[in-house]
Amino acid sequence: MTKQTWALAVHGGAGTILRAKMTPEKEAAYHAALRRVLEAGQAVLRDGGLAIDAVTAAVVVLEDEPLFNAGRGAVYTSAGEQEMDAAVMDGRDRQAGAVAGIFGPRNPIRVARLVMDSPQVLLTGAPAVDLARAAGLPFGDRDYFFTEPRWTALQETMALRASGTAETDPARRHGTVGAVALDLSGNLAAATSTGGMTAKPPGRVGDSPVIGAGTFADNATCAVSGTGHGEIFIRWTAGAEIAARIRHAGQTLEQAATAVVMEDLMPNDGSGGVIAVDRAGNIAMPFNCEGMYRGTARRGEAPQTFIYR
Ligand code: ASP
Repeated sequence: MTKQTWALAVHGGAGTILRAKMTPEKEAAYHAALRRVLEAGQAVLRDGGLAIDAVTAAVVVLEDEPLFNAGRGAVYTSAGEQEMDAAVMDGRDRQAGAVAGIFGPRNPIRVARLVMDSPQVLLTGAPAVDLARAAGLPFGDRDYFFTEPRWTALQETMALRASGTAETDPARRHGTVGAVALDLSGNLAAATSTGGMTAKPPGRVGDSPVIGAGTFADNATCAVSGTGHGEIFIRWTAGAEIAARIRHAGQTLEQAATAVVMEDLMPNDGSGGVIAVDRAGNIAMPFNCEGMYRGTARRGEAPQTFIYR
């Protein structure tokens, strides 16, 4: 493959509904949503737009879609609030922007973009929300962000905790959305946005806004967006480790991403997966759990969406 290709991969989280609980209607709704997300990202890349704009556009659609745990449809903390994290990274110059623990802006990823264009990398809480307000970004209230399944998931998780029962259904815990892209000029970018994990303690920040953990992009290697047990992705520096394996060990994207997901994360309680793209347009999407909502598109190829293996 030459640089004259573009490639896009998106995910809607590794905490999929267990196959046993999936209905044909729900499955069709997830595939349709993922196709809309791919369409938004492709529209930018096809026209020669930047990878950073494509991943942002794709994640905005994922955040607006209540099926996924980001923006509208974000999960609840143990206090019944929603606290969102997001990050973007531009592989051209490793510019990065991230927000953590915010509520209000409909699209946390757009706030992360604002931070990227400031001298800071990571902004938390009220000042990040103020930045969004000053820029005139759209806001939502509790009703806008509310979804019945997320509220029910919180009640169920709290009840399980109270009874001392272990959490078994990943769909209740996880979710996150993300996109990685290669543009026609050979640039890579990554974007990730999440409500975090159901019943997380207030103030808890996951891997998504941590550069090098849940989000990473460098034109020299790859762009990565992760989804899964955030604490483990942070401790194993998942995104940076994939890039390091390519850079220093000469591994392919597939080898590097698979090794991190299967050999670093999985044995250490790090359930989840990543989507990754390299500068040749190769895409890797390994995960170590039952499913990961995901999709790919590449120049000259029909877009594809997947949920299970
Ligand atoms: N990684 C996210 C977090 O820990 C959650 C997820 O992707 O399921 O906040």
